[in-house]
Amino acid sequence: MSIEVVFLGTSGSIPTPERSAPCLAIKRMGELFLFDCGEGAQRQLIRSGLGFPAKLKIFISHLHGDHVFGLPGLIHTLSLLDRRAPLDIYGPPGLRDFLSCIRTTVGLKPRFELRIREVGEGIILSARDYVVKAVWVEHSIPTLAYALEEKPRPGRFHPERAKELGVPEGPLWKQLQLGMPVRTPDGRLVRPEEVLGPPRRGFKIVYSGDTGWSEALVELARGADLLVHECMFDNSLSERAKEDKHSTPEVAARTALEAGAQRLVLTHISARYKDPSVLLEQARALFPNTMIAHDLLRIELWHEE
Ligand SMILES: [Zn+2]
Ligand SMILES: [Zn+2]
Repeated sequence: MSIEVVFLGTSGSIPTPERSAPCLAIKRMGELFLFDCGEGAQRQLIRSGLGFPAKLKIFISHLHGDHVFGLPGLIHTLSLLDRRAPLDIYGPPGLRDFLSCIRTTVGLKPRFELRIREVGEGIILSARDYVVKAVWVEHSIPTLAYALEEKPRPGRFHPERAKELGVPEGPLWKQLQLGMPVRTPDGRLVRPEEVLGPPRRGFKIVYSGDTGWSEALVELARGADLLVHECMFDNSLSERAKEDKHSTPEVAARTALEAGAQRLVLTHISARYKDPSVLLEQARALFPNTMIAHDLLRIELWHEE
């Protein structure tokens, strides 16, 4: 089993011929998560081959145009495609007003339920095997960073042990593998811990949104397998970055370092960097395991078996 991270849009503020507006996709077990939905996100979904799956959730970091102008187009297309599955969109307060203006003015009447959830800090979604957490970060308007964190997975299954305990191969094995107790045909109760190894940790992926230096983000990114961090300016423009509440490679790399993250990917790259290698060099000076995102870059995280 793996998680696929696809960078659909990697520009900051203004798109360029090479970079579409901000949007990060994470595909996990048939479910697609979008973090931000910049203009053109729907086309990038098509180009990437991810398409428009029924299980789709969108998380908006903040209501700056470059992060949300893709929503109207995407909802319009899903409507034309006669989607019926509900669409969940999470984001800071103001998201509902933004979408209701669009729906009214362009007469958008999707046949699917648009479940808009205005959220703040904390666990904003808890599913069977993952949670999504949010924290407020440091930007010019209220902005959330998000973490998609898998719950620990049940440990490795030992079939010989199950056989010894009288559990026949078949559906009962599956139940034990999912962490549920079963009763054998001769009436004995077998608990999952009798046939499973220790729980295995899941992955944690963190998306910064737009932000300057943020202690809350360091906490959110604690032990992350992958930190996707905005990087609008290089270190020589750190004063400008502070004024605009954006990040430099130094800020992104220091966040990854202090959080003990495994890997850092810089995104939200300003149009001024035709060649972003200066950003990469500056970040790697502090945090070597850094790369720069480009549109349609795919990173796959594999669970150990
Ligand atoms: Zn932005
Ligand atoms: Zn912004």
